[in-house]
Amino acid sequence: MVTFVGKPNAGKSTLMNRIIGEKLSIVSRKPQTTRDRVVGIRSTADSQMIILDTPGLLEPGYALQESMKQTAQRALTEADVIVHVHDVTDGDVPSLKDAAGLEHEPHAPIIQALNKSDKLGKRDRERVRAGREDNTVLVSALSGDGVPELIAKIGSLLPESPFYYPADEISAQPLRFFAAELVRETALEQLRDEVPYSIACEIEEFREDRSPHLIRAIIYVEKESQKGIVVGAKGAAIKRIGERARKKIEAFIGEKVYLELHVKVLPNWRRDSSALSRFGYQTQKEKPQ
Ligand code: GDP
Ligand code: MG
Repeated sequence: MVTFVGKPNAGKSTLMNRIIGEKLSIVSRKPQTTRDRVVGIRSTADSQMIILDTPGLLEPGYALQESMKQTAQRALTEADVIVHVHDVTDGDVPSLKDAAGLEHEPHAPIIQALNKSDKLGKRDRERVRAGREDNTVLVSALSGDGVPELIAKIGSLLPESPFYYPADEISAQPLRFFAAELVRETALEQLRDEVPYSIACEIEEFREDRSPHLIRAIIYVEKESQKGIVVGAKGAAIKRIGERARKKIEAFIGEKVYLELHVKVLPNWRRDSSALSRFGYQTQKEKPQ
């Protein structure tokens, strides 16, 4: 079990996707878009990494952030290896214990992945590379530079164990989870800063027995005014979200898809623990073991 952890925007999701080789976790320029723990699996002939992507570690300010933080902390305690991803242009690497608000240092060995090496000039890159410690790898999730070295380092720290998953599986999450994430990602991209973080997506129907597959998804927002923005003038915005999301889902599952989108208002869902658990976010009340 390999847990990726680090500040929002450090590049955890991008790095994980690069390692798995498939687009699993949604990537966004806006921080805090990974709300759930996504499991990616990388199997080779003799090793299997089960990768947990965590939400950004933040101070709990409201219900959603508290829930995200718990998910991240749980992924840390389950880890055999922890990869602490840090944007190399963002100053020194903070202590994980402090950043994550942990009471103790985690048990698992920690690898520091200094990401975004492509943003450094040649000279800085050499300087960081020369000065780094044994548990540190300089990588670029974007270009793939340094990633084989990171994979080898993770592999060398994994315990002996039977495979948990069949070797051809890349994720333990059902397709409908990814469909919902791709709709949410597309909505975030299309809407820019207009409806920040108020969007959740739920798949109401996912029919693989039809050709094309039928997917009916609901986009939830918190206010009537946000619904207007998501739908757009004469439905233009929702239509654009639907077209782009459909293409991404088709590319991901390799099937033609008919995607039906609806927008509903669920007032203040981010502060409502029953709504949070309905969207699959872990909340304080029902802490799984
Ligand atoms: P997360 O919040 O840690 O999961 O970060 P994301 O993977 O969502 O990435 C945040 C932003 O950083 C996105 O715009 C990525 O494209 C960008 N990013 C991630 N890795 C790299 C990298 O190696 N180089 C550069 N230049 N940008 C990166
Ligand atoms: Mg992420």
